[in-house]
Amino acid sequence: MQAWRVRATMVNTLGDDAMTITAFGALAGDQPLASMTITRRAPGPHDVQIEIAYCGVCHSDLHQVRAEWAGTKYPCVPGHEIVGRVSAVGAEVSRFQVADLVGVGCIVDSCQHCDDCAVGLENYCNHMVGTYNGPTTDAPGHTLGGYSQRIVVHERFVLRITHPEAQLAAVAPLLCAGITTYSPLRHWKVGPGHRVGVVGIGGLGHMGLKLAHAMGAHVVAFTTSESKRAAALALGAHEVVVSRNAEEMTPFARSLDLILNTVAAPHDLDPFFQLLKRDATMALVGAPATPHAALQVFSLIMKRRRLAGSLIGGIPETQEMLNFCAEHDIVADIELIRADQINDAYARMLKGDVQYRFVIDSASLAR
Ligand code: NAP
Ligand code: ZN
Repeated sequence: MQAWRVRATMVNTLGDDAMTITAFGALAGDQPLASMTITRRAPGPHDVQIEIAYCGVCHSDLHQVRAEWAGTKYPCVPGHEIVGRVSAVGAEVSRFQVADLVGVGCIVDSCQHCDDCAVGLENYCNHMVGTYNGPTTDAPGHTLGGYSQRIVVHERFVLRITHPEAQLAAVAPLLCAGITTYSPLRHWKVGPGHRVGVVGIGGLGHMGLKLAHAMGAHVVAFTTSESKRAAALALGAHEVVVSRNAEEMTPFARSLDLILNTVAAPHDLDPFFQLLKRDATMALVGAPATPHAALQVFSLIMKRRRLAGSLIGGIPETQEMLNFCAEHDIVADIELIRADQINDAYARMLKGDVQYRFVIDSASLAR
C-alpha cells in the first residue's frame, strides 16, 4: 500500500520544530493498517513531548479504525494506551522533566470549565478530545494516536508512572483497560463483602478480575471461552462460569451486587440480569456498534435492578488507578508485538484469541 505522507504545507502549521515521525494507521475503514509518516507539533509552553516505548491495542482501536462507530476520520492512527519517556518539555511545564516515565490514556484535552471538568471527570466533558479521532488544530485536523513514535500532549493530560521500568510494557494497558474497569468498580464502591461478576475476559475483563480481587471483592468471571476457565482463576476470579452453559448460570441467580460487562459484541443481557440481587447494577463498558438483544423490562422492575454505562475515567482517577496498581503490583498480562503484526493481532482479537492484551513495541516502528 502507498504510505500516506503529510504535505509540507501542513508541517508549517505545526511550528518550526514540528517533527516528522513514523506511525501505523489506515487510510480507510476497509484497508489494513500500514506504515505512514505523520507530524507532531513542536511542544508549546505547557506541552510534554513523549518518546513512546509501548502502546496497548484496545478493541476500541479496531471499532474506530474500521469505521464500526460513526465518524471515523482518515488517516486514522489508533492507540490510547501509551507509555514512554519525556523527551522534551515546554517552558511552562512544572510537573514533568525530561526522562520521566509517563503515560497518556484516552483523553488529550477537555474544556476545563464545565461541571464535569471541575470535578476531574474530563471523560464526561462535552468537549473531551480523544487521543485519536478528536478535533485539533494540528494537522491533519484530528488527533492521531499512540501507534506512533512520539506524541505531544498538554501536561494536564499526562500521567506519572511509578511502576518499575521493567514492567513498562505491561503498564500500558492500564491507561485504558485499567481505568475503564477501575472507575466503575470504585463508583459502585466495590470492596470486601461484595460479589462482583466480570463478563468477557479480554483486555478489559482481565483487568476487571485483577482490580476487583485487589479491592477485596468475591469475583466471578463469565466467559464464552471454555479455554479461559483456568486462566480466569489465575487472574483473580474466585469462580468461573462458562456463560453459554445455562446450568452453570443457574446457581448464581440473584447473587451478585455488580456486573461489569466488557463484551465487545451484541448479546442477550437478560441471563445476566437474573444474576443480580435486588437493587444491584449491571454496568456496561463494552461498546459494540450494534444494539444488544431487546431489553426484558420485567427483569429490571421485579428486583429494582439497574442498567448503567461507564466511560473510561477522569485524569485524577486515572492517576489514582496507576498508583493503586503500583502499590498492589498489578499490571496487564500482555503479548508484545511489532507494529507490522497489528492486522494479525486484530484478527486474533476478534476471535477472543489474546492473552490478554496485545502491546506494540514502538521500537519496531523505527525499522
Ligand atoms: P477484547 O480484548 O476483544 O475482549 C472482549 C471479550 O468479550 C472477548 O475476549 C470475549 O471474552 C468477549 N466476547 C464474547 N463474545 C464476543 C464476540 N462475539 N466478539 C468479541 N468478543 C466477545 O476487547 P476489550 O479491549 O476488552 O474491549 C471490550 C469492549 O469495551 C469493546 O467494545 C471496546 O470498544 C469497549 N471499551 C469501552 C470503554 C469504555 O470507556 N466504556 C473503554 C475501552 C474499551 P470471552 O472469551 O471471555 O467471552
Ligand atoms: Zn481503549
